[in-house]
Amino acid sequence: MSTLALGVDLGGTNARAAVIDRDTGEIVASHKEPLRDRTPERVVEVVLHVLTQAAGAAELALGSCASVGVGVAGQVLGSTGVVLNAPNLGWRDVAFGRLLEGRLGVPVHVANDLAVAAWGEKRFGAAKGLDDVVLVFVGSGVGSGLILGGRLHEGAHGVAGEFGHVKVRPLRAETKVRRCGCGQLSCLEAYTSGVNVAARVREDLEAGAATLVRDRVGGDLSRVNATAVDDAFAAGDAYAIALWEENAALLGTAIANLVTILNPARVILGGGVLLGCPHLARLIQGQFDTHVLRAAARGLTVERAWLGDDAGVIGAAVLG
Ligand SMILES: [Zn+2]
Repeated sequence: MSTLALGVDLGGTNARAAVIDRDTGEIVASHKEPLRDRTPERVVEVVLHVLTQAAGAAELALGSCASVGVGVAGQVLGSTGVVLNAPNLGWRDVAFGRLLEGRLGVPVHVANDLAVAAWGEKRFGAAKGLDDVVLVFVGSGVGSGLILGGRLHEGAHGVAGEFGHVKVRPLRAETKVRRCGCGQLSCLEAYTSGVNVAARVREDLEAGAATLVRDRVGGDLSRVNATAVDDAFAAGDAYAIALWEENAALLGTAIANLVTILNPARVILGGGVLLGCPHLARLIQGQFDTHVLRAAARGLTVERAWLGDDAGVIGAAVLG
């Protein structure tokens, strides 16, 4: 039997398929295409195309695969293959698994992108050999993948681990709460994701906020991102310091609560905001140390993700 497996990483801007050696996690072949039209029918065509290209490059017959795994940036109803909500694709209640299966003629397993990334790290990366691991991702979005008792924890209906949507602000009339891409108010992601940090800083700059971030991006607000805030922080900018202290408190406390509940052996950090903003990361660590239950953090190790952007396709391929 072939040791090759097919995985797909379906983000908001690209679809990428890869043929993986399921024994070693090595990427044998991969192919990526941008998503110009995000309607489910068109995305199915693009996914079929990248799968065909990747499989062809590895001389693998698509129909000979036992299954194909797909990681989607969104909330997925586990084994049904229904994508409940994928803000970057503009999807609500899309039966993507069934649509793709109908065209592919091979069973399709759809899961959240961070769930499959956690599984990739468990099989071949920073979670290898550990039974209880939490992957925390802060990049364009915020999320987590949970490995509990050696298995991927998907929950009763597949939506476990939606860490970006834990609520971090009280809904009181006097507080300014931000609406999240999921439609609800006060989610962790609405404050701390790369996309939302950039949106908030842009709003503040347009309202006349005095901050070095403006200089860092040469006055071009479209270039505002979390890295520019981190740079301004390093230069002692009061606005950046206040924003980072606020976001570090939200993230550090939320990660501490996750560890207090689940008692993992390791926390794996991923995503451009966590890995690309060292000053923010240091503040988060301080808040985490303050708030985590001592007993739950005993022996805990913290590691950066090993597989980077490949974790999704690798995990998706070996999930099925
Ligand atoms: Zn949300």
